[in-house]
Amino acid sequence: MKNIPVIMIIFGGSGDLAHRKLYPSLFNLYEQGLIHDNFAVIGTARRPWSHEYLRGQVSDAIHETHDQVNENEVKDFASHFYYQSHDVTNVEHYETLKKLAQELDDRYSAQGNRLFYMAMAPRFFGTIATHINDQHLTGSGFNRIVVEKPFGHDLASAEELNEEITASFDENDIFRIDHYLGKEMIQNIMPMRFTNPLIKNIWSGDYIKNMQITLAERLGVEARGGYYDTSGALRDMVQNHIFQIITLLAMPEPKDLSSDSVHQAKQDLLKSLIIPTPEEVKNDFVRGQYLGSDTTFAYKKEPNVDPNSTTETFVAGKAKFTSGPLAGVPIYFRTGKEFKEKKTRIDIVLKHINNPYGQAHSNNITIEVDPESKIYITINGKKIDEPGIRREDLTYAFSKEEMAKVPDGYERLLHDVFVNDSTNFTHWSELKRYWEFIDAVENAWQKENEAGNPEITQYLPYRMGPKESNDIFESPTEHWIYE
Ligand code: NAD
Repeated sequence: MKNIPVIMIIFGGSGDLAHRKLYPSLFNLYEQGLIHDNFAVIGTARRPWSHEYLRGQVSDAIHETHDQVNENEVKDFASHFYYQSHDVTNVEHYETLKKLAQELDDRYSAQGNRLFYMAMAPRFFGTIATHINDQHLTGSGFNRIVVEKPFGHDLASAEELNEEITASFDENDIFRIDHYLGKEMIQNIMPMRFTNPLIKNIWSGDYIKNMQITLAERLGVEARGGYYDTSGALRDMVQNHIFQIITLLAMPEPKDLSSDSVHQAKQDLLKSLIIPTPEEVKNDFVRGQYLGSDTTFAYKKEPNVDPNSTTETFVAGKAKFTSGPLAGVPIYFRTGKEFKEKKTRIDIVLKHINNPYGQAHSNNITIEVDPESKIYITINGKKIDEPGIRREDLTYAFSKEEMAKVPDGYERLLHDVFVNDSTNFTHWSELKRYWEFIDAVENAWQKENEAGNPEITQYLPYRMGPKESNDIFESPTEHWIYE
């Protein structure tokens, strides 16, 4: 594998994301030789750590995520890490950071290449981008930036952040990361759709009744109540992960697999996304908050949550397009906290056909994304010793050994940033369209809140969210397949 020379600067180097995901993923890429001799990582955060302390943290992070490691390699890898105590709001600190980056660039022959990673609370993204620009932190080689979610709080703040970032970076060098796009089964949607005539030929409203996406979380807000209360399920999960999945399901076939062609297909589709009216939001969306149990708090009683909060911990809704292969097909989605189990799955519900046997099961296609990775198709056949139709699943799955080889989403996506492949990152024009949809729903809800009659269902924890989510279907013959 090509050895990429680069100085990587991680804002938020003492944080959870850096520890659990970035350091282990970088180590794997180091072992593969993608980054090796000519790289250094500067971790920045406010704490007064030393280089040695950060190296110890990096080593711990690797041991926590790997069963067996070569200690010499871990040591050698960690020696490429440097710590810079840095308050992102203090302009002078950027000067020190710039000097350190330059020094390391000379030491490691990094050819002026810089990779900035924003692994901090999103409220700092704009400040960091502004100071990267006004303090001229970019290098003389390539300059790329990875921006974590959420990218903005609504369209207006996303536009503002985008302007701050594009002051120093071209669109092609901005990697808006959504780790869902690094997941094995999400990356399997395109090959499944486009290489199987059996599937490709039925991918239209002639055969597909609806699609259903569920992103179920088992946990409540835990320690994140303060942040979550300013966000909610729609912004936290639908604006990014669910819309990425919807787009992959509904986009037309790209002319080839280049990043440009894939993004072109996505953008062609998104032009025709129907933005819901307040009336449609009322009919097609359900929002809810979880109640308490013997051992857990109700959402409104969680620490740092407003007791009168109108923030939703559950949302179900519908998206539709006027063009593309699924024009007119409803794509239902739901996500929330305190479901009965953690699960991400996509159900493609096919229409029934008339047949001489009478009722048969519809040939649903299910893609399980998390925690299992598999695709299965429901097939009808005859019962062995009695009249009637029997239902079986044809399954595409991986062995345990294969699953063990699947890289973490972060490792895949970091690899793509190093090799400059933007296919699995969000382009600005796509993000903008997602926010237009989300804003329409949020604004309609805000009006309901202001009128004093918000419809926010309180649901029992550890089930499937509020039963009202069954009311969003267009016809009485539709229902959630995953119950
Ligand atoms: P965190 O709170 O654990 O870490 C935040 C980091 O920012 C820490 O290193 C902290 O020291 C630093 N920091 C805070 N204020 C600072 C300041 N003024 N100057 C300099 N440094 C400062 O957060 P996290 O969980 O690592 O999340 C970081 C980002 O990654 C967020 O945007 C989050 O949405 C995103 N993300 C996190 C995860 C995850 O698994 N943790 C998953 C997906 C996305």
